[in-house]
Amino acid sequence: MDPIQEALRPHPGVLLILSAPSGAGKTTLARRLGAELGEDGLFSVSYTTRQPRGAERDGVDYHFVDRAAFQTMIDAGDFLEWAEVHGNFYGTHRSYAEAAAGKKAVIFDIDVQGGEQFKARHPEAVSVFILPPSMEELERRLRSRGTDSDEVIARRLAAAHREIERGMQCYDCAIVNDDLDRAYDDLSAVVRASNLRLLSR
Ligand code: ADP
Ligand code: 5GP
Repeated sequence: MDPIQEALRPHPGVLLILSAPSGAGKTTLARRLGAELGEDGLFSVSYTTRQPRGAERDGVDYHFVDRAAFQTMIDAGDFLEWAEVHGNFYGTHRSYAEAAAGKKAVIFDIDVQGGEQFKARHPEAVSVFILPPSMEELERRLRSRGTDSDEVIARRLAAAHREIERGMQCYDCAIVNDDLDRAYDDLSAVVRASNLRLLSR
């Protein structure tokens, strides 16, 4: 075979970890990336013990399970990573790490604790931390989403301080989501650049 063709043979796409304090706009950015990638992208659908919110659908946004079922999956070693976030459990099924063949990106929308566990097992993954432009704007976005009670919003804002500190210490990239189009361009650039790397071959 031509050595150049051999060298350029298809290689697995990037395992893209996306984390942010709740309300920063991660879901908005991730959906746009998923829409642009189409068949070249795949979303990891997490398991969670929290209740569905708004128009969320089981098997699409999350697999909604009770605590007993979640514990059974932990015991069976089904999770690549799992964490307790805001009083509920969330976990990523390990099958998604093998799903990057033939894709440009597998997108993991997980919290900072999960991101750290993930990177420890898959150092080739690329972790992106999305920041809101300010804490005031973060609160405004949480309220404008209209899906959480005052109590839940207060808990999420308190957690945001810790998450930002941790994310800025251990993530590969940070993107400020002030202007949505500009933030999306940055995210798109990370995916493109990650797919130029040779280390996943
Ligand atoms: P997350 O997934 O990080 O919790 P969402 O994507 O649900 O956040 O966004 C929270 C709210 O902020 C939503 O109402 C969304 O439409 C809005 N939003 C997202 N990005 C921006 C932005 N760049 N400017 C203004 N509002 C935004
Ligand atoms: P929400 O309840 O707003 O959908 O998500 C709350 C937090 O849980 C978000 O930070 C989200 O990224 C995180 N999360 C969702 N799925 C997983 C997962 O599988 N593992 C971990 N560690 N966090 C997750």
